[in-house]
Amino acid sequence: MPFPDLPDDLNALAAQGLLRSRRILESAQGAHITVDGCDYLAFCSNDYLGLAAHPVLIEAACRGAGQYGVGAGASHLIVGHSEAHHQLELALAAFLELPRTLLFSTGYMANLGVVSALLGRNDVVLADKLNHASLNDAALISRARFLRYTHLDLAHLEQTLAGAKGRRKLVVTDAVFSMDGDLAPVPELLALCERYDAYLLLDDAHGFGVLGTHGRGILEHFNVQSPRIIYMATLGKAAGVFGAFVAGGDELIQTLIQGARTYIYTTAFPPLLATVLLASLHLFREEGWRRAQLRELIAYLKEHLKTERWQLMPSDTPIQPLLIGSNQEAVRIAEALRLQGILVPAIRPPTVPKGQARLRISLSAAHSKDDVRRLCDALNAQA
Ligand SMILES: *Cc1c(COP(=O)(O)O)cnc(C)c1O
Repeated sequence: MPFPDLPDDLNALAAQGLLRSRRILESAQGAHITVDGCDYLAFCSNDYLGLAAHPVLIEAACRGAGQYGVGAGASHLIVGHSEAHHQLELALAAFLELPRTLLFSTGYMANLGVVSALLGRNDVVLADKLNHASLNDAALISRARFLRYTHLDLAHLEQTLAGAKGRRKLVVTDAVFSMDGDLAPVPELLALCERYDAYLLLDDAHGFGVLGTHGRGILEHFNVQSPRIIYMATLGKAAGVFGAFVAGGDELIQTLIQGARTYIYTTAFPPLLATVLLASLHLFREEGWRRAQLRELIAYLKEHLKTERWQLMPSDTPIQPLLIGSNQEAVRIAEALRLQGILVPAIRPPTVPKGQARLRISLSAAHSKDDVRRLCDALNAQA
């Protein structure tokens, strides 16, 4: 054992109901999955459009493997940047109506790469308190001053911006908050950025493909475009595959290619995945019914869950958290549902603030109304 105090730390986590463990998924991702030998109706994935096992995408994966093999074999700047990667960057830019995009292997790496390529010791990051961990880690490794404002509190942000001294100021926020499902007020954030000469990094991991009539995410939802916005989204959630990208002007993308360490010093993701993602973007357009289905299911859940018993958090997105409070109680209810064949994850600190453990229900276009009814019935019958 590397450090003799490790068991004590693990026991302390267990005593607080905070020990995490993994289940083994034995099927493809979807509304109905097999885990540890049992079949479940699942509300756990970020596969919001139900594309992760779409036959068209599986076929594209085989085609991509036939053309490129399975490994990129090098970083983008050496010889790992395939024609498929390149076409995907162009297709994403066209889809979003933005000048350029740059692919990263994961959203975590994209956030680290962007913030640390743009900011240093003399700069300031202003961050919503409920931002994703990767945005916080990004601020820390950039060595910029890291100032956090109360969740969605524009007055607090303004006060912080007014007092912030630095060469560059960057406001960073989840566009859709990953554990709450609520939205950043982008037009108001942008107005503040303009007033205080700051820039705005939007992490649209949960909005891309989901929000807006065409799935263009938070930008389409609010109908905003601005040279002050640095847009980032992931490709492992609604797009159903893997990866992430940053979108913006030519100078931004050039700067990232020159300086984003998580872009430069890592292997490009497999080109076959870029082939699949091109097909996935196609499905955003061709199968718009998936977004409509998702909206119907969100309304259906809100309508059928007993409000005297359950407190859904204010969210209109597929992320529908049920606030529970105590860690043990959240785990107990998740376990009771599991015994009835329904999987909903209990989310505990430090992923959410202390005392705000919750069940994070995530809906997918792969669910049917019957699936959602089964979940509501099971929850409504809970003591
Ligand atoms: C999932 C997520 C990420 C990380 O993306 P990966 O591609 O999974 O690394 C970043 N930001 C937010 C808000 C996320 O929900």
